[in-house]
Amino acid sequence: MTEESVVATIQHLQPELTTHFMHLVQTNHLAHAYLFNGADGTGRQELATVIAMRLFCQHVTAEGLPCGQCAECRRILAGDHPDVVSVIPDGQRIKVDQVRYLKSEFTKSAVEGNQKIFIVDQVDRMTTGAANSLLKFIEEPVGNTVALLLTANKNLILPTILSRTQVVDFLQVAPQAFAQALEKAGVAPSQRYLLATLTESVSAAQELTADDWLKEAQTQVGQWFSACTQGDEQAFVRVQTKLLPLALNRDRQGVLLDMLVQVWHDALRQQAGQVASDDLAFPQVATASQQVSQRLSIDQLVNVMTLTLATRSQLAGNMNFQTILEALTLQILAQVTR
Ligand SMILES: [Zn+2]
Repeated sequence: MTEESVVATIQHLQPELTTHFMHLVQTNHLAHAYLFNGADGTGRQELATVIAMRLFCQHVTAEGLPCGQCAECRRILAGDHPDVVSVIPDGQRIKVDQVRYLKSEFTKSAVEGNQKIFIVDQVDRMTTGAANSLLKFIEEPVGNTVALLLTANKNLILPTILSRTQVVDFLQVAPQAFAQALEKAGVAPSQRYLLATLTESVSAAQELTADDWLKEAQTQVGQWFSACTQGDEQAFVRVQTKLLPLALNRDRQGVLLDMLVQVWHDALRQQAGQVASDDLAFPQVATASQQVSQRLSIDQLVNVMTLTLATRSQLAGNMNFQTILEALTLQILAQVTR
């Protein structure tokens, strides 16, 4: 990526947000922690980079943008600036050594008191340990620091982090394009919404639909959900007999947990009124979803959502998958039959 292109790209993708954040830097009104919520291709990483450049640039342009040419801008673009600490997971999870690096940089910034900016992409993939040190940092601001946390899906962010950051939603550049691409790839209408919540990449979507894995997982998660909503203890039995066989590997375990979040998210969305079946992740259990959304209070549904969201960090923290699911099911049954 060339110097000019990242500034030009973000101006093209998110003109209002760019102007807004350049103004915040200029007037020294940048908050301590932000959550940038935007799908891939919406410019969340580019905006973070340009904010970092603007903070350190030696030759800010007349339009209030970083020059992209000075030594500071170039070091940031090269990923080689000591006060721009950037963590981008190179796999499914934020790795242990990346967490150590973050922690040591947090500690250093407390000592040095320099202007420092932390950029953590895919923050939903943090382990519990990493999320905890991040929370500590957000709660006890040190020196002149800014944290930009980035995610493609804020539904997967722990409420503790959501409540302590300013959430900035990036407009989807082309949601229809993704839906059309899925249609072209032969994905059934009943799976499109679910897939869009699980991934932004058509090839990843095709991988999930191969061998009918997604279809089977959608059915089984739906039936587990129905049993949960009825307070039926079969939900607990289904974990071992129906859900575990689908958890072929670590990645699929993560996808299954994301699906549990989405099936309850459907119910939460239906509480505000019935949602069209094409806009549900689990249209085949729309009725159960509608009924439970009417029967439970918003507090109960939020509690269930919080429980399902917490499973992702439990998995990242290496808890046994079966234990996670069984504990979750028991907690949900307790909520539902309260
Ligand atoms: Zn510059």
